[in-house]
Amino acid sequence: MTRNEFVKMCSLLGLSLPYQSILASCTSDNTVSSTDFQGTVLIIGAGAAGMTAGYLLNQQGVDFQILEASTVLGGRMKTTTDFVDFPIPMGAEWLHVKRGVFDEIVNDSNISVQTQTTPYDPNTDTALYKGQEVSMQDLGFDIDQKFIGASWLDFFEQYVVPSIQNNISYNQVVTAIDYSGEKIRVNTSNSEFIADKVIVTVPVKLLQNSSISFTPQLPKKKLDALSKVTVWDGFKAFIEFSQKFYPTAIGFDITPESAGQKLYYDAAYGQNSTRPVLGLFTVGTGTLPYRQLSDNALIEYMLEELDTLFEGQASANYVKHISQNWNEEPFAQGAYVYDQENWRRVRTLGESVNDKLFFAGTAYTDGEDWSSVHTAARSAIQAVNELAR
Ligand SMILES: Cc1cc2nc3c(=O)[nH]c(=O)nc-3n(C[C@H](O)[C@H](O)[C@H](O)COP(=O)(O)OP(=O)(O)OC[C@H]3O[C@@H](n4cnc5c(N)ncnc54)[C@H](O)[C@@H]3O)c2cc1C
Repeated sequence: MTRNEFVKMCSLLGLSLPYQSILASCTSDNTVSSTDFQGTVLIIGAGAAGMTAGYLLNQQGVDFQILEASTVLGGRMKTTTDFVDFPIPMGAEWLHVKRGVFDEIVNDSNISVQTQTTPYDPNTDTALYKGQEVSMQDLGFDIDQKFIGASWLDFFEQYVVPSIQNNISYNQVVTAIDYSGEKIRVNTSNSEFIADKVIVTVPVKLLQNSSISFTPQLPKKKLDALSKVTVWDGFKAFIEFSQKFYPTAIGFDITPESAGQKLYYDAAYGQNSTRPVLGLFTVGTGTLPYRQLSDNALIEYMLEELDTLFEGQASANYVKHISQNWNEEPFAQGAYVYDQENWRRVRTLGESVNDKLFFAGTAYTDGEDWSSVHTAARSAIQAVNELAR
């Protein structure tokens, strides 16, 4: 395989992320400034960005409340613990940057983050791509790490949630934000909330669908950017087998590269478990063969696909499976903004409005990376710094 093919494949598999992240970590200020801001803040959404924002405001003694539409926190870090004997990440799975990002989020030198992660081993881990054996590093997994006995959600639950859990209100679907007056009025289906500043962290697809009305309307530049950004569809599945017959990952081509991505991978990699689980990650058009199938048709399709690659071993060793269609999640409605999006558009999405509305989350970054948990968290650090300056 030539260098160009490697680079193309990395891009197909979304593995430009680590490089984007290195760039982001070089250029963004991810430290939190102290503040004498006295007002009240409402945060819309309890995903990575909303929780990070609340956590940092709490550290600074700022009065805040998080309004979460669903019955649980975490958003696209959703994790299942009852499939096998280790957590299964239905959304965010890999740590795409160095572990130092945990310390940036925790922002407390007295706390040493114990969440376990592991990189891939360049000497022993093999992957398949176009029928050839390649290394995980060839596939671009040179910085990325798997969580061990944990997930991104577990990190938040252990280090962030304890100090903000009393400030989260669930089942609060925000439908309207009126920032025309001195105070901001935020309406949910059953209540009204008043604040001095609001941090919006809802997935961009919900703003595209006008799930929240803004008074006055958002600036034209932001509305233009909103109407133009592309959000990839998202679908994941996990299959437990009675024995492992596959390599660490199997990469696939999706063309054109901006259309989507697809990867099968060893989801049990590094876990303290003997239960083999193969994951399927797809976004964009990569989701199409899977996300409209019934559960029975889905497993038939996946087993047939794997049987072709591994001489019938998938069907022979199948135990059970689960899947997650992100398009059907009412408060996500897709995966994330596609990797090839115009960075200026993303930056526009993240800009604050009238020193009242602030935007944080994976799609509202400074335009250097827009599809990861760590960037959602970093955008929250930046929003809190800007809001409380
Ligand atoms: C399939 C898939 C795989 C991924 N893999 C990785 C990975 O390996 N590594 C990685 O770092 N990232 C990964 N990501 C991306 C990562 O999950 C997201 O970037 C990150 O979790 C987004 O955090 P957020 O806070 O911006 O948004 P969200 O997590 O979506 O949080 C937004 C919150 O707002 C709530 N909400 C929505 N509408 C309203 C409303 N009207 N009122 C009140 N609340 C509302 C939602 O319920 C949600 O809790 C993946 C994502 C997907 C979908």
